[in-house]
Amino acid sequence: MASESVAADRDESEAASDPESAVETARRQLYRAAAHLDIDPAIVERLKHPTKVQEVTVPIERDDGSVEVFTGYRAQHDSVRGPHKGGLRYHPEVTRDECVGLGMWMTWKCAVMDIPFGGAKGGIAVDPKRLSPSEKERLTRRFAEEIRDSIGPNRDIPAPDMGTDPQTMAWLMDAYSMQEGETVPGVVTGKPPAVGGSYGRDEAPGRSVAIVTREAVEYYETDLSATTVAIQGYGSVGANAARLLDDWGATVVAVSDVNGAIYDPDGLDTHSIPSHDEEPEAVTRQSVPHTITNDELLELDVDVLVPAALGNVLTAENAADVRADLVVEGANGPTTSAADEIFADRSLPVIPDILANAGGVTVSYFEWLQDINRRSWSRERVNDELESEMLAAWRDVRDAFDERDVRWRDAAYTVALERIAAAHEARGLWP
Ligand code: GLU
Repeated sequence: MASESVAADRDESEAASDPESAVETARRQLYRAAAHLDIDPAIVERLKHPTKVQEVTVPIERDDGSVEVFTGYRAQHDSVRGPHKGGLRYHPEVTRDECVGLGMWMTWKCAVMDIPFGGAKGGIAVDPKRLSPSEKERLTRRFAEEIRDSIGPNRDIPAPDMGTDPQTMAWLMDAYSMQEGETVPGVVTGKPPAVGGSYGRDEAPGRSVAIVTREAVEYYETDLSATTVAIQGYGSVGANAARLLDDWGATVVAVSDVNGAIYDPDGLDTHSIPSHDEEPEAVTRQSVPHTITNDELLELDVDVLVPAALGNVLTAENAADVRADLVVEGANGPTTSAADEIFADRSLPVIPDILANAGGVTVSYFEWLQDINRRSWSRERVNDELESEMLAAWRDVRDAFDERDVRWRDAAYTVALERIAAAHEARGLWP
């Protein structure tokens, strides 16, 4: 009886949540992949749920002396292949469900890259633009204290995500280390190199988006030099992907930030446009032929569209109007399930986030190895190893795509899920 009522509660809570929430999308994607594989349904059932979700209250003193209270989360999804791993997001719309869904994506992302981590995600529901640097520091240190027992270099390793950066990671690492009584660089990744961060980590997600775009363009027998690209978002992912693709011969015709997009059919000079980190919200201040909206950017007639900003931007409303021939997901979860169906009906290939932007967590893994060994790698070595890891993962996913005759997303998920299921099978359920 007890287990029946737990199951009933669970079904109710599942039914009550938004069908396009990250967690529901992640679950649907899990079922789709599982349907192509012969895996124990009990393992799929376990993977539907996070191992642990922490919700914490994070009070801070504002600069004017008042106290404001925020809510933070850390959702740990699965650690069968290694410590939980995943970013920490500061954004007003952070919710428990979003952290769970994004944590699930991290489990698949690490598995598709075959790196020995599980998945997690955390965040604080806060608009970081409203906070001064010292308020952000107090928020981060207090949050670190609240989640201290569940993180650690062999337990759960946070990293930057939306609204957080290397400085945030340095504060987190310092707060954790001061309480441990020893310097523990491996507790977070994406730190500044001065405290054990890896060269090349900042640009890694954008670099992997560029590498995967290059491979996908070649797979469809097109030349990068004859390829036009539109990129939504000019933060770390969008700007680095844009600049590399530009360097490798593609024509980047449009980029955007929160204020809108700029468009030049002859190609933009991506290096002269400041990224969000170099100068926030500078994209629409550039003098270029056309300023368009973010929605218009998504519907441009280009060869490749790279949504590299928020989640859920390609939806049932605009999917039919997307005119690109290929979508490469730079952001986490930019395509809703409804849009995925429309793209599949239109035979429009979508290279999924868990492969395309996985350079971030891959260099996080390199950083963790460097921290354990107390020895840093050159930027060149990081980029070379990232290139070969991305190519290996691309080949695994491409082979699954060819052999199974499925969508790219399902191909990536089957590669990931096979590895995760094998680990669960081997370890079993205990206690
Ligand atoms: N936040 C990044 C992601 O979504 C990186 C996670 C990490 O490096 O742990 O992939």
